[in-house]
Amino acid sequence: MEYRYLGNSGLMVSCLSLGGWVTYGGQVGPEIAQECMKVAFDLGINFFDTAEVYSGGQCEKDMGAAIRKFGWKRSDLVISTKLFWGGKGPNDRGLSRKHIIEGTNASLERLQLDYVDLLYAHRPDPDTPMEEIVRAFNHVIDQGKAFYWGTSEWSAQQITEAHTVAQRLNLIAPLMEQPQYNMFHRDRVEKEYMPLYKSFGLGTTIWSPLASGLLSGKYNDGIPSDSRLALKDNAVMKRYRDALETADGRVKLEKVAKLHLIAEKLECTSSQLALAWCLKNTNVSSVITGASKPSQVEENVKSLRVVPLLTEEIMRNIEEVLLNKPEQ
Ligand code: NDP
Repeated sequence: MEYRYLGNSGLMVSCLSLGGWVTYGGQVGPEIAQECMKVAFDLGINFFDTAEVYSGGQCEKDMGAAIRKFGWKRSDLVISTKLFWGGKGPNDRGLSRKHIIEGTNASLERLQLDYVDLLYAHRPDPDTPMEEIVRAFNHVIDQGKAFYWGTSEWSAQQITEAHTVAQRLNLIAPLMEQPQYNMFHRDRVEKEYMPLYKSFGLGTTIWSPLASGLLSGKYNDGIPSDSRLALKDNAVMKRYRDALETADGRVKLEKVAKLHLIAEKLECTSSQLALAWCLKNTNVSSVITGASKPSQVEENVKSLRVVPLLTEEIMRNIEEVLLNKPEQ
């Protein structure tokens, strides 16, 4: 495993990490979640990601149970959770001081942990003043309940505003952002955030590196019954399923088929190629993977071997398939 500094902090995260969206507490039971996390940990993954909203809190419970079951040393782990959608009440959502503090406490209780290493604002909250948000995350850090705070899917402008407020108040600014990044979704990481890597030392822990499995090639011959897109009562997955039927979806599937030929040339799987491509970007601190089977974790960790195979020529070949490089 390779470990990277998270932005300009002294914290090291495994460059591949494991998250529980859709899967843990939802698609699979606690035993599978535990098996996946065990395989990941044994292969050197130290960073595990969850959120208060994942499976209504069950994801945090199941991931926390795995941590306790295996008796891992807390200092060997980097655990993150994210706050924004904590329940149905008017104060159970958003980034008010009340929800940030109460949400953190509730997450820690479900995780059965004294602190998380990383705490994210899962989305921006334009209805709460930035000063309230920055002060609340600092309060949680001062209480020892989180070590670093960050954002998820905030615009460069919103991140800059948080830094400006933190600087003015002499408080801790957000360290890391959790954006979507994969071969089909590139603009934020490769263009919008570009100035922030230098000016703030922004770290990124990127999500959906396989575009929910699409880049593995598993959807090129229909929807496998044991895949997340087959989940019947999940509105997001229904949207993804429907998207595959659109013209844009068909173009993506064609690109996946072409990328498979490049993967074959490199003697790796399509998933490994897609993950290695994310890892090759040095502004990425950690690629948060997902897995509903331990074998997927094993396969995905082997993407590390593929990174050195991504020569300039191979990267050019990939661009010729993707045709979506953001203009600088
Ligand atoms: P991916 O795009 O990598 O999708 C993971 C899914 O793809 C797996 O659950 C599995 O689904 C399938 N898969 C994984 N490996 C393979 C393989 N080798 N071969 C075939 N299929 C494979 O990542 P996620 O979308 O899960 O995102 C990763 C993490 O990022 C989440 O768990 C979460 O922690 C975080 N996240 C954060 C968000 C945010 O707003 N901040 C939003 C979304 C995610 P299947 O069961 O179908 O096989």
